[in-house]
Amino acid sequence: MCGMPALKLSSKHCDFINDDHLLGMLLRQRSDAVRIREIIAKSLSKEPLTVEETAALVMADDPELVEEIFAAASRLKQKVYGNRIVLFAPLYIGNNCVNDCSYCSFKRSNTGAVRRTLTEQEVREQVIALEENGHKRLILVFGEHRRYDPRFIADTVRTVYATKSGHGEIRRVNINAAPLDHEGYATIKEAGIGTYQIFQETYHHSTYTRVHGKKTPKADYLYRLHGLGRAMEAGLDDVGLGVLFGLFDWRFEVLGLVSHALHLQHHYGVGPHTISFPRLRPAHGVKSDSRHLVDDYDFKRIIAILRLAVPYAGLILTARENPDVRRSLMAFGVSQIDAGSRIELGGYTEAGDAQVMEREQFSLGDIRSLDEVMAELMRDGYLPSFCTSCYRSGRTGEHFMEFSIPGFIKEFCTPNALLTLQEYLEDYASPETQSVGEALVARELQKLEDGDFKETLCGRLSAIRQNKSRDC
Ligand code: SAM
Ligand code: SF4
Repeated sequence: MCGMPALKLSSKHCDFINDDHLLGMLLRQRSDAVRIREIIAKSLSKEPLTVEETAALVMADDPELVEEIFAAASRLKQKVYGNRIVLFAPLYIGNNCVNDCSYCSFKRSNTGAVRRTLTEQEVREQVIALEENGHKRLILVFGEHRRYDPRFIADTVRTVYATKSGHGEIRRVNINAAPLDHEGYATIKEAGIGTYQIFQETYHHSTYTRVHGKKTPKADYLYRLHGLGRAMEAGLDDVGLGVLFGLFDWRFEVLGLVSHALHLQHHYGVGPHTISFPRLRPAHGVKSDSRHLVDDYDFKRIIAILRLAVPYAGLILTARENPDVRRSLMAFGVSQIDAGSRIELGGYTEAGDAQVMEREQFSLGDIRSLDEVMAELMRDGYLPSFCTSCYRSGRTGEHFMEFSIPGFIKEFCTPNALLTLQEYLEDYASPETQSVGEALVARELQKLEDGDFKETLCGRLSAIRQNKSRDC
């Protein structure tokens, strides 16, 4: 499998995705109840699964076994992450693009797309609008274009951090942009980014070539595949994987994601911080191809299997999905969602509630406000968290800590989630969301044993209520 000659790759690189090998693995799987239960037991003991074991879960079609997979994913999510859900918002910075991805309305051949790059002042205005809604974490999204070079991305990150509305601040900035060279990642790291996300879109080579055309930077499958490895080599060890589900068979793509996660773990000692699994959405100027679209049932299987296979990674469910789907999938392993999202350029101040297709990359399924999403999450028993404490104290491997250090969640994550939630309730929540939130905080406090720890936490919550402290 190694030794692909096409690129100048470092010694750590090899093409770890082999289509025939992965497809063959799917075909040979034995997915009987005994084997599936053994694999589930391994996963519940918090051990990452092999690609072969993941293939067995993927090929388990018996509805009863699939239900067991759902139940196990739900249990593992509770066991590892508890009921916390981290919230963030996307901020689209520029949609100029030299690529021609068949599925995306920003593709260069879409002459009907309205092209725009936010100015520094416009970035500030968007950030202020987001801060005034209560957001603390953003992901900045860029097309691929010479204007969006590493210096530009780094400067934009600095602008975001420096923009303080007087009513909040952005404490963590993640990036979703084209793959870079080592020097580019080093430039961006200096600006203090959180996670660098690159979605492979599809791991299947010939599908990748078909949907990305020729003679575009993105057409180079291996350069993209090794993009996150280069990030790690450049010292940026917080990275996110993703597949755009709907381009090729979902079963194959799940194996691609798990192979990629294992490759990073094996070669760099760190697996992905997050995995994203966007489903293809209708987009302006894009002809739909429905052959590999994933229905809701299989989508739930994808999330549950990823939860079991890569138990330490955060799973991100975006607002591409509609509110009902999001609500029904939350329990199976999702740990991060975006809310109050607008993806048209300038959308947080300009478009109001309407979605303008020509200005968007694709159409969103959930355009509810952050406040509405917060209220629903809390009514359903989730604890929304805006905590960025690990990142701000230099603990970039926080997901591994949550995962591997007994008591870490109880001692750090839950109290920080409660404190940041209390900040939100005081500063941004509607009266209805505030009362749902206060009830949730009270229930969470009841779960804690009496003693110094609980007393200190109660004191800090009261200080926030009296507007004295903002330090999570
Ligand atoms: N331009 C960069 C790239 O392609 O890597 C980064 C950002 S791109 C704007 C973000 C992601 O949006 C893509 O990686 C792709 O997975 C997703 N996307 C593109 N078109 C989509 C569509 N029609 N429906 C859902 N997601 C889409
Ligand atoms: Fe450009 Fe990214 Fe859209 Fe492809 S997915 S056309 S690279 S913005």
